[in-house]
Amino acid sequence: MDLTDLQSNETTGLVCAHHHLYSSLARGMPAPPRSPTSFFEILELVWWRLDRALDLEMLKWSAKLGALEAIESGTTAIIDHHESPNAIEGSLDVIADACAEIGIRVVCSYGVTDRHGPEGAAKGLEENARFLASGRRGMVGIHAAFTCENETLVAAAEMADHFGVGVHIHVAEGADDRGAAQRLKDLSRDNWLLVHGVHLPDNHELRGTVIHNPRSNMNNSVGYAAPQRLRLPVALGTDGIGAAMLDEFRVAYARVREHDITTTPETAWNWLEGGYQLVPEALQDRVAWSEGPVDPWRLAYHTNIRAEFVEIGGEVVLNNGVATRIDPQEVRAKAAEQAKRLFTKLDDMP
Ligand SMILES: [Zn+2]
Repeated sequence: MDLTDLQSNETTGLVCAHHHLYSSLARGMPAPPRSPTSFFEILELVWWRLDRALDLEMLKWSAKLGALEAIESGTTAIIDHHESPNAIEGSLDVIADACAEIGIRVVCSYGVTDRHGPEGAAKGLEENARFLASGRRGMVGIHAAFTCENETLVAAAEMADHFGVGVHIHVAEGADDRGAAQRLKDLSRDNWLLVHGVHLPDNHELRGTVIHNPRSNMNNSVGYAAPQRLRLPVALGTDGIGAAMLDEFRVAYARVREHDITTTPETAWNWLEGGYQLVPEALQDRVAWSEGPVDPWRLAYHTNIRAEFVEIGGEVVLNNGVATRIDPQEVRAKAAEQAKRLFTKLDDMP
């Protein structure tokens, strides 16, 4: 498609540069055994319990729901980061298949970690290799430096080089991962995705694109990343809190504006457009919004604009706001059933 063909209420497809499709069922989940009082406890008591509870059936419907909500928000490409330590093998295919069914582009990776011992790390590496060797679109995932031994980091970096892809890794999200820059600086490459970077020093020496997830950072109370100070390309992600990228753009703008009153919406819009460096195919996709013109200064303050029509790779996947390839009501009903199973499992967990 020639971009000059775009009408004033249209954009190319939006990119969510960091998502966790496995977390779509988590909303309204049972409260953790006690209230987390730090970022590390949020991981331990909420997310690391959730990922242990997942099986492939839950994952399938979680990914379908997340992919459906993404196209309903005008997002046509997702860069996903996955972990399900008790259902590793085949998990990336489950996510890729779910996205293919909805009709959205996805780049999958499995977040390798030593949290479950060297065997768990090996299985995670194998899943990345198996998926990439099958020729599907992916990256090598690492959970974060602070949950990995050095040999795991090196193995993942070498695997990414071997397949000619980048590494997708959480970096210095919380203070616990402050050492990440030191440990990763000789491994990182320009095609790496450095997610968060909140606690990176300005002179970090890492290579890659910084993925900024402002709402998640606020939710986890980890501080403000101020991504422009890191002097690397920036793109926006949601860290699993949906895939509504206009919404994330608004939060990114409000947050940077709070930090510096001279900032304009163009800054946050440039971050949103950073996603096209990562999934350039999204430039071929087309989204028609409920009204135009699509201008960062209007969108920053307009909270009611909706995607009405989405075309991905020449195929209409959303028409009059309704997904065309699947029955959205069925996806929501099946996802709700799986959420119930997941919540029961979480309730029974020590
Ligand atoms: Zn994340």
